[in-house]
Amino acid sequence: MNTDAQEQKYVIAPPPQPALAVAGTDELFPVRRLWCVGRNYAEHIKEMGHDVREPPFFFAKPADAIVPDGGTVPYPSLTKDMHHEVELVVALQSGGRNIPTDKALARIYGYGVGIDLTRRDLQIASRDIKRPWEIGKAFDHSAPCGALAPAAVIGHPSKGRIVLRVNGKVRQDGDLTQMIWNVPEIISKLSEMVALEPGDIIMTGTPSGVAATVAGDRIECEIEGVGKLAVTIGAPLK
Ligand code: MN
Repeated sequence: MNTDAQEQKYVIAPPPQPALAVAGTDELFPVRRLWCVGRNYAEHIKEMGHDVREPPFFFAKPADAIVPDGGTVPYPSLTKDMHHEVELVVALQSGGRNIPTDKALARIYGYGVGIDLTRRDLQIASRDIKRPWEIGKAFDHSAPCGALAPAAVIGHPSKGRIVLRVNGKVRQDGDLTQMIWNVPEIISKLSEMVALEPGDIIMTGTPSGVAATVAGDRIECEIEGVGKLAVTIGAPLK
């Protein structure tokens, strides 16, 4: 809790703490960093024209790009091809460096359903000239995330249908068993690259069926045994 004395040291008001709802409660999970795994379902790798045998890699979005369940995503600027990628979200209650796979699940607070929204045209343009991905991936409102289901309640899902519908029509339909790198492996790999901390969350990759979404679309996602997420794509910001 900030005291008046601490607040006086900031030259502007501190930004709000991004957070996710905890399902079935009025409690919040504070979000520190938001990491994403690239290319973690074989069929999606094939549809994007890459080799399935490549190891996974990570990129990040700002935590304040989170949009809660029921929210509206303003159609972003500079793109004509914003894609949806439904993903299992993992939220960490503790962290560390070089976490062994057999110690990784104990770090997890809970799981949720997220969408890695992507300005695909800008991502591919950046990729093709070997520039970073932020403009394609880390834009405002690019990370819708539903409420977290605590692992203490649902356990650690390693299988279950992951589905995304646009205006009632199924676009992405996979199963968590199709992940190339499972959740403990993802946590272990990422912790070799950075020190993980409580509050870090990870989007774990998307199954095939990614496609464009436009203003007015209603996107509904569900992961069996985990939860749901629904957002609307709104008009561009003026
Ligand atoms: Mn993704």
